[in-house]
Amino acid sequence: MPALHERRRERLTDVLTSVGLGSALITTVLNVRYLTGFTGSAAALLVTVDGSAEIATDSRYALQVQQECSDVPARITRSGRRELAQSVCDQNLGAAGFEDQCLSVAAWRDLPPGVAWTPLDSALDQLRMAKDAAELDLLRVACSASDAALDDVLPRLHAGVSEREVARWIDDGLRDRSEGPAFDTIVASGPNGAIPHHQPTERPIEHGDFVTMDFGARVGGYHADMTRTVVVGEVAHEWQRETYDIVRRAQQAGIDALGVGRAAADVDAAAREVIVDAGFGAFFDHGLGHGVGLQIHEAPFLGATSPDNLVESVPVTVEPGIYLPGRGGVRIEDTVVVHADHVEYLTTTTRDLLVVG
Ligand code: ZN
Ligand code: ZN
Repeated sequence: MPALHERRRERLTDVLTSVGLGSALITTVLNVRYLTGFTGSAAALLVTVDGSAEIATDSRYALQVQQECSDVPARITRSGRRELAQSVCDQNLGAAGFEDQCLSVAAWRDLPPGVAWTPLDSALDQLRMAKDAAELDLLRVACSASDAALDDVLPRLHAGVSEREVARWIDDGLRDRSEGPAFDTIVASGPNGAIPHHQPTERPIEHGDFVTMDFGARVGGYHADMTRTVVVGEVAHEWQRETYDIVRRAQQAGIDALGVGRAAADVDAAAREVIVDAGFGAFFDHGLGHGVGLQIHEAPFLGATSPDNLVESVPVTVEPGIYLPGRGGVRIEDTVVVHADHVEYLTTTTRDLLVVG
């Protein structure tokens, strides 16, 4: 889809122009992918303000680069970054942006002298924050694949199966429907639920356990992210009903606070207030959510110290939780998109407390 990627490069050149840069040397493969459609694992890209671009990759990808981004001239070499940097010098392109957030110190030292190399800072993250229609479609497919995978697993979940077994079922369901899991699937049962990023173990799930499952599918490189906490057999403890209800209300408060122009920190505060007011503030010690896209965690970040403001067409997760050491935890997470006049749920599994098994 050359036109799509050309539009993205135009948005980058607008940014470059506004800060007085003549070109940008892109060295993160994710950003190269975003700007060209090239999905290989090694690439660099030079974009200049006159709208021209040149991509460099090695011979393993000579054919693929032609197929995936036929509109961008390709240089086949093992030292693409260095050659494109030299090209900035040779063409007298003026001050040039580089990806300071991910270029190694060694690679930075290797940039040729004679050019005002200028950090791009978070410019690419900001550019990627609002998604275009093609990106939102990929996220919709990834999220519905995630819902469907969970739908298959819930009827099979019962006391006696291990966390690892449940994680395997989820992963199989994701692989059947997508490129595979977007990240390492989390299944946390009973007391393990108190660890937000618990790795699944052989622990057999017990009657009355809370089971938290955090997972997502990846489609076209785009990451879905959702979490559901269910109870196995029956609600065994009053604290389970209480904490679930608080987390659900907190998530709703967070989603209600989303909107174009809103400060991400305020959205975090809206959800956190519900948990703090209920007396569980000390047991919710991570941010409320994050953007998703070509990365599972990307801007904007919904947290108390986040500098981000929400823009139109930005997908974010909203994932409050309460984690009680020794007892367990609950988290409810959905991926939603902020539109001008509404919030669209991409993950749609019920948020009611489900009793399974
Ligand atoms: Zn998650
Ligand atoms: Zn998440």
